[in-house]
Amino acid sequence: MIEKEEIEALVERYNLEKVSIGTLGSHSALNIFKGAKEEDFRTVCICTRSREIVYRKFQLVDEFIFVEKFSDLLNKEVQKRLRELNTILVPHGSFNAYIGMEGILSDLYVPMFGNRRLLQWEINREKQREWLKRAGLRLPKTYESPNDVDKLVIVKFPGARGGKGYFLADSPKTFRSKVEDMIGRGHLKKSDLSHVQLQEYILGVTAYFQYFRSIIEDDVELLGMDRRYESAVDGLGRIPARDQLQVDLNPTYTVVGNIPLTLRESLLPEVLSIGDRVASVSEEIAPPGIIGPFCLETIITDTGEIYTFEISARIVAGSNVGIGTSPYAYLKYGAGMYMGRRIAWEIKEGIRRGLLKNILY
Ligand code: AMP
Ligand code: AMP
Repeated sequence: MIEKEEIEALVERYNLEKVSIGTLGSHSALNIFKGAKEEDFRTVCICTRSREIVYRKFQLVDEFIFVEKFSDLLNKEVQKRLRELNTILVPHGSFNAYIGMEGILSDLYVPMFGNRRLLQWEINREKQREWLKRAGLRLPKTYESPNDVDKLVIVKFPGARGGKGYFLADSPKTFRSKVEDMIGRGHLKKSDLSHVQLQEYILGVTAYFQYFRSIIEDDVELLGMDRRYESAVDGLGRIPARDQLQVDLNPTYTVVGNIPLTLRESLLPEVLSIGDRVASVSEEIAPPGIIGPFCLETIITDTGEIYTFEISARIVAGSNVGIGTSPYAYLKYGAGMYMGRRIAWEIKEGIRRGLLKNILY
């Protein structure tokens, strides 16, 4: 496990006049790079050749480091080059997906904007629940065993895999038959079964709230909101129920994009309050708590109850809907503020006020 002091020692050797903001070329990299450029930073993209076109076309990258696969970020030479460029890494969804917690915690000797210690809470569903419960959030009920299922549940598997293999069941019997079906179709492995989470299915609409916790300003800001556009589940409504039954569909939840959202204003008191509480508990479980962006993933019912089913303690790709400006960022900052830029601005303020070591881990 890399100690905080080791990161501080790296930062001490940095030329703070020439800091670069770096990330893996995927997920929300355009958002991060644009924000960095607007705050006058240089940018470094750790990129694969197949994704190069994205960063060439938008011209937001000063320095490319090409790798065969994203996990090569852990290579010694790549890390050395990043440190030479005085790079501060901004982690996003691909860090968890392609590198994994162990690598990030133990082998990544480059300063990161974010709290590595929180990763352990973020990637474990049980620990996530404990965190969110302590913050007093409303969570979907979970079931210990398939035999206890007495109403509609969503069956989830570990890891961010786009809801692949998830299915719905409403009794022990439907659970068992769906399992066989999913295994038969190759969506699921027998070994997955010991890690399932059975969650009460909440009927409502999804809403993802993007917050920014500023250590420097000591505040939690609501900067944006979105819903995901998921294939195939968002396409099901276009097929009449009769036909759905005939072809025996099973919904999957692979994200293909995001759609901006603004909420009824009467729901905002709770949205703002749960953001504050989640950040406050994060300080207790992994000091100094969340650094920068985080997202609460919720379902809102027809009675206005907000159920949180997940937290991401980093920038989410949903914040890409706000590149330029989202209504909520506009309310606080006026035009031109969004998650990538807010991150860069925090780093800039950290440098200016001599507080960089409080926000890099
Ligand atoms: P990609 O860069 O598309 O390979 O995505 C990297 C990781 O981030 C994968 O685990 C994706 O499932 C996740 N991801 C990418 N885009 C989104 C999005 N718009 N919403 C949620 N997750 C995403
Ligand atoms: P997750 O992998 O936890 O992000 O869930 C993937 C998708 O499943 C979400 O985007 C929702 O559309 C849906 N979902 C997750 N949990 C629930 C729940 N408890 N009730 C209803 N839908 C859910």
